[in-house]
Amino acid sequence: MSGILIIGGGIAGTAAALALHKAGFEATVHEAYPHGAEDIGAFLTLADNGMRALAQLDAAEAVADTGFPLTAMRVIDAAGAEVAAVPLGDPASPLTSYRCLLRSELNRVLQAEARRRGIVVRHSARLVGLAEDADGVTASFADGSSAEGSLLIGADGLNSTVRTLLHPGGPEPRYAGQRVFYGYSPGARPEDATERITMIRSDTAAFGYAVSPKDETFWFARVSGGPASAAELAAGTVAQWRGELVSRLRRDDTPAADIVAATGDRLMLTNACDLPVGTPWHTPTGRALIIGDAAHAASPATGQGASMALEDAVVLAKALRDLPSTTAALAAYQRHRRPRVEQNITTSARITAGAAPAPAAAPPGPPQQRDSANPVSRVQEQLVRQLDWDTTLLSC
Ligand SMILES: Cc1cc2nc3c(=O)[nH]c(=O)nc-3n(C[C@H](O)[C@H](O)[C@H](O)COP(=O)(O)OP(=O)(O)OC[C@H]3O[C@@H](n4cnc5c(N)ncnc54)[C@H](O)[C@@H]3O)c2cc1C
Repeated sequence: MSGILIIGGGIAGTAAALALHKAGFEATVHEAYPHGAEDIGAFLTLADNGMRALAQLDAAEAVADTGFPLTAMRVIDAAGAEVAAVPLGDPASPLTSYRCLLRSELNRVLQAEARRRGIVVRHSARLVGLAEDADGVTASFADGSSAEGSLLIGADGLNSTVRTLLHPGGPEPRYAGQRVFYGYSPGARPEDATERITMIRSDTAAFGYAVSPKDETFWFARVSGGPASAAELAAGTVAQWRGELVSRLRRDDTPAADIVAATGDRLMLTNACDLPVGTPWHTPTGRALIIGDAAHAASPATGQGASMALEDAVVLAKALRDLPSTTAALAAYQRHRRPRVEQNITTSARITAGAAPAPAAAPPGPPQQRDSANPVSRVQEQLVRQLDWDTTLLSC
C-alpha cells in the first residue's frame, strides 16, 4: 500500500499515525492549525482503556509524563454526603491508570512522539476537497496544495470536513441537551486529596473536580437545558458565566459553588454534542474513512471520547496489518468498533438526558482476573485482545 493520508492532527489522527507507522505503513498527518492542535484549554480524563491503547503504541510513558494520575473516584450527593468511593484503574499497572490532562498537552505529546519516529506532521494544511479514482485518493488543501495516497483517514473531529465530503447531506452533529462549563481554580481544601476525582450527583448540575499536584482544581459542570446560542458564546463573558453558574450551584451544599467562584479567567463554555448512531464511516471503494469524533462523537458524560479515539487507532492499524485487503480491513475494523463506540454514544446520551446513572468505574485489577462468566468481564477481555498489538485481529 502506498502512503496513507491522515486528516487531523488531534488525538485520533496522531495516534493513528503512530499505530500505522508501527504496523509498517507510511502515513502523513495534515493538520489545519498552524501550531499544534489549538483548542481553548479543555482538560480531559483518559480512562484505563485509553492508556492501554497508548501502551500498545509505546506512547503511554510519554503521555504519563504530563497531567496527573487519578486512582480513586468519590461520588457525593447534593447535600455533600458521600454515596460511593471506588478505586480507578489497576494500581499494579500505573501506565494503564486513569490520567487527567489538558487536551492540548495530549496533542502536543502525541505529535512530538510522531515527529520523533520520523512521521511527517504538516501544519496549516486544512483539507477542503477530496477525489477518488482507481489509483487512490487525492486530498486538496485550502492553501492550494494537494497530496495523494492509497487511503485517506478523516480524523478531523466533530465538525469533520471529510465526513461531509464523503456523505454530503449525511448525519450532522446534534445538541445533546447540556451546556458544559469547565475551568481551573487555584488552591484546594484540605479534604481534596490529589489523585482523586470527585463527582457530584445533583439535579442542579453534574459536577466533577480533581486537584492537580500543583493545587489547581480542574472542574467541569454539565447543566441541562437549551444550547448556548452562537451569539451567547461570542458575546458572553467569563464573569457572566461564572456568576450564573455559582448562583445555580449555591442551591446545593457541596464545594462546587466555591470552586467555581474561585475561578479566574480560565473558565469556558461549550455545548455538548454527539453524532447519530449509524453514521456511515467509509466509501464503498474503501479509499476513505473517518475515525474518532468525526465518526462517532459522543456527548462528554461518559468521558470516553479520547479513549475511544485511541482504541480506533490501534484496531485500525491492526486491521490493515492483518487483513489481506483494505476492503477486508475496513469491514473488520467496522465490525469490531461500531458496537462499542455506538454503545458509548447511546450510554452517554442517556446519562446526559438523566435516563441513566453515570457509569461506575471498571473494577480494579487486570481483566483476566475478573469473573469470565460476567458479560462485562467478557467485553473487557475481548477489548484487551483487540488492543493487544501481538494478537492478530483475525483471532479476536
Ligand atoms: C467539554 C468536553 C469534555 C470532554 N471530556 C472528555 C474526557 O474527560 N475524556 C475523554 O476521553 N474525552 C472527552 N471529551 C471528548 C474528546 O475531547 C474527543 O472525543 C477527542 O478530542 C476526539 O479526538 P479526535 O482526534 O477525534 O478529534 P479532535 O480532538 O477534535 O481533533 C480533530 C483535529 O482535526 C483538525 N481538523 C479539523 N478540520 C480539519 C481540516 N479540514 N483539515 C485538517 N485538519 C482539520 C483539528 O484542528 C483537530 O486538531 C470531551 C469533549 C468535550 C467537548
